[in-house]
Amino acid sequence: MLKVVKFGGSSLASAEAFSKVKKIVEADKSRAVVVVSAPGKRFKEDIKVTDLLYVCHAHIKYSIGVDDMFEKIKERYREIYNGCGLKQDLEYEFEKIASGLNKKSSVDYIVSRGEYLNARLMAEYLGYTFVDSASWLVFNFNGKVDFDRSYKNLSEIVENNPRIVIPGFYGATPDGNIKTFSRGGSDITGAIAAAAINADMYENWTDVSGIMTADPRIVDNPRPIENVTFAELRELSYMGADVLHEETVFPVRQKSIPLYIKNTNDMNARGTLIMESFDEDEDNRSSHFITGISGKKNFSIITIAKSRMNDEIGYVRRALEVFERFGIPIEHIPSSIDSFSVVIASSHIENCMHELIAALNTALAPDSIKIDNEISLIAIVGRKLQANIGIAGKIFKALGENDINIKMIEQGADEINIIIGVNDRNFKKTIKVLYNLSEVEE
Ligand code: ASP
Repeated sequence: MLKVVKFGGSSLASAEAFSKVKKIVEADKSRAVVVVSAPGKRFKEDIKVTDLLYVCHAHIKYSIGVDDMFEKIKERYREIYNGCGLKQDLEYEFEKIASGLNKKSSVDYIVSRGEYLNARLMAEYLGYTFVDSASWLVFNFNGKVDFDRSYKNLSEIVENNPRIVIPGFYGATPDGNIKTFSRGGSDITGAIAAAAINADMYENWTDVSGIMTADPRIVDNPRPIENVTFAELRELSYMGADVLHEETVFPVRQKSIPLYIKNTNDMNARGTLIMESFDEDEDNRSSHFITGISGKKNFSIITIAKSRMNDEIGYVRRALEVFERFGIPIEHIPSSIDSFSVVIASSHIENCMHELIAALNTALAPDSIKIDNEISLIAIVGRKLQANIGIAGKIFKALGENDINIKMIEQGADEINIIIGVNDRNFKKTIKVLYNLSEVEE
């Protein structure tokens, strides 16, 4: 058994947090490849080291002194270094970085130093080998990861160094320049590392006990999801659930590596297991029929009506061409006989609303065009929706009993989600009603 374990910034923010990580790694000998973020927040108002580094870069760009800011960063690492009783030459590492804090260095190089230093410290603390991600994670010049080369590089390294710590968030282009992922990208590094060495599991350790059934800012103490499929996770994330960096899933999914979300502060909590599919016995362990609920506000529904529309071939296509011309991505297209609606994020039409309507009028000569703004889309996601009859009925009954008017309904063709549109003012209420419904055991 071979596991890649990734720890997020809040799990690595202090010496105390480091000691929890050590306990977790030492509790399971298969945790051989450790991926680290930069130190995150120790308390609510704290600032992440990565953010401090972005500020350093901005100071350099505008020729503002960077010493005070860099001193703050050094303090973060010194606390970890002293608290963990480490011996490496940390001041030398600081000097090396300080000598690169100038206009010649790229923003990617500067911000990557947060992960770099943390991995150096963690490697010594665990007695593992430090492996710089610039030495194995290859980005092509087009900014995309070269998976084949990265996999080959890391698997060769691991053959000779079975226990390693690697910094997350960055790699290098073939000419050796540091390149980072977008924010939160250490999740992706962990997934690529897991795929590279064909790990049996990728554990992503964070500060919550897994992915929650609903947003904890809306629902009090929601239940963590025990098992979720990659497809369900995609639906939940797309609709606003804040889980993993969205590019994380691809490498592990492609190699069928199970992904666990675990809590560093509660190492024995089960967490959430993400896999391609679960067998029926496993699924039957839980009687909940909804896996999760997530949603986003601020959509618009544009409804185009024309009598005898169904006789006019190409009518919807002409409408979609207009949206394409305006570069507007479409979320859903619910339709009836003489009308159809196009659901889009309101942000896409803010600056072109009048031009868009004029173009639709010209292309379609409709009887009417109606726009509803301030619409929330809420996804009820669950692989068990397919097999259970009457769930949609229960959902609509519960919403009706709570005076929530449904503006749109759509069920995905694979029947793992039902999406409903409600007014933004009912956003939280709808999620609460649906969560309470999902808690009723079948
Ligand atoms: N430290 C980086 C960030 O704050 C990357 C990460 O933590 O995943 O975005």
